[in-house]
Amino acid sequence: MIIKTNKDEILDFSHDASNFSGNPEAVFFPETILELQELVKTLYQENTCFTISGNRTGLTGGAAAEKGIIISTSKLNKIIEINRNDKYIITEAGVTLEEIQRTAAENGLLYPPDPTETNCFIGGTIATNASGEKSFKYGATRNFVEELEILLPQGELIQIKRNHFFANNLKIKILNYDLTLPKFDMPEVKNTAGYYCAPDMDIIDLFIGAEGTLGIITKAKLRLVDKPGKLISCFVFFNNEEDALQFITDVKRKSLLSIHTNDFTRLNALAIEFMDKNSISLLKDNPLIPHNRAAAVWFEQETTTEYEDLILNRLWELLSKYNVDDNSILYAVDDNEIKSLKELRHSFPSKVNEYISAHNLKKLGTDTAVPSGSFRAYYKFCKDCVEINNLQYVIYGHFGNSHIHLNILPKDEKEYNLGKEIYNQICLKAVELGGTISAEHGIGKFKRDLLIKMYGEEIVNQMKNIKQVLDPKMLLNSGNIFLP
Ligand SMILES: Cc1cc2nc3c(=O)[nH]c(=O)nc-3n(C[C@H](O)[C@H](O)[C@H](O)COP(=O)(O)OP(=O)(O)OC[C@H]3O[C@@H](n4cnc5c(N)ncnc54)[C@H](O)[C@@H]3O)c2cc1C
Repeated sequence: MIIKTNKDEILDFSHDASNFSGNPEAVFFPETILELQELVKTLYQENTCFTISGNRTGLTGGAAAEKGIIISTSKLNKIIEINRNDKYIITEAGVTLEEIQRTAAENGLLYPPDPTETNCFIGGTIATNASGEKSFKYGATRNFVEELEILLPQGELIQIKRNHFFANNLKIKILNYDLTLPKFDMPEVKNTAGYYCAPDMDIIDLFIGAEGTLGIITKAKLRLVDKPGKLISCFVFFNNEEDALQFITDVKRKSLLSIHTNDFTRLNALAIEFMDKNSISLLKDNPLIPHNRAAAVWFEQETTTEYEDLILNRLWELLSKYNVDDNSILYAVDDNEIKSLKELRHSFPSKVNEYISAHNLKKLGTDTAVPSGSFRAYYKFCKDCVEINNLQYVIYGHFGNSHIHLNILPKDEKEYNLGKEIYNQICLKAVELGGTISAEHGIGKFKRDLLIKMYGEEIVNQMKNIKQVLDPKMLLNSGNIFLP
């Protein structure tokens, strides 16, 4: 096993894409699951904290160890099986999402979870229950996890199949561990804050989105779906923001009518994404972006060659209500053009993350979602909060899921501190409206206080008890979700 201890060599492992910096002593690269298991057993005996690193694209400092060592899953990078007939893929944790998506596509299949950042490892996406652009239609990673192999904190390797093991009235037994789930209502929005808990839940769901605090995901069997015959991708730039928001409401309403079908003759969006004026300004040097637009929407839909024109006509018809001219639309139906529009969408968060790194700041980006009926009022609340305080900001997000990334871009430490207060207000407002402080990025080391505000101290302590039963010394992913 490769072990790196040289500070320069391990520098990249001390932070993730949020720019949160930890202080790891070493990085271990196990090459087999057996090697990983032996390592974990030894670390547990020696009382050494260990943090799991995927490809560090996370946005909450989860993979950045504050102390102890890091275990990288990068050498556990084999795809074990792809089954075209039964539509599944079995993979080790360190395979990139890009490789999973490509392998599925080469076999005429699709792995829908798509957090726009495709350099992440599949283990990281399961640990954070990642979602992203296609979650409007397909939901989050959880919906596609059929089976997991998990290395528990003290070194036992377990297999959990979906639909095989269930909680019994909030009680779960795994090997000799007796776990008690807290009783609370999870918000009815896209959510990945804290543990997934329900009285008779499938046990596999406890580990998905647990941010690596309950065990190390070593292998996964993932469900695939048929690759659509055709994809339509479209960026629309609006002259005023109200038109963009109203277009989203319209297209969402129409899509929800056929979301559970593969009706390719109707508007049936895969992704409905929003970018505000400030986001567009960040990319003003990009030749694809028209000047002086107030907002943009990225829309994707699956269809077939036969119905491609019909869908485009339906889309143009809807857009004609919103003062959109030909120069304001970029649309793509062939693979290369679709890829370039997807890259355009990805460049919005990338640009923000670059700004944060360049200014040596920690990310102040919301990941809140609220029930759709409250979304427009919530959006206004968020904007007012930053504008009244004269803070520079950009807003983009998965508006199809009423999910908003408002990134505050402070100029200095004083603005950062003010921004942090505003950020907290925006998160708490989401909770007040029945939403969540984290729809897809997780709690990591940034939102531990907010998690307590969201669920209350008692529920969070009961979640922590689950961890303490499996990991009494609190060595695995210490500091994630809960204070150590
Ligand atoms: C530009 C950009 C855009 C993004 N857009 C989205 C988006 O739209 N939607 C979205 O959901 N996310 C998005 N993300 C966040 C990110 O891509 C995801 O959080 C990703 O799922 C993390 O994968 P990773 O391999 O990089 O994990 P890491 O960042 O390395 O780790 C994330 C967490 O998972 C744990 N972990 C990693 N591997 C394992 C394992 N095998 N077993 C147990 N725990 C593990 C880590 O300890 C850590 O707590 C974006 C990120 C960037 C940089």
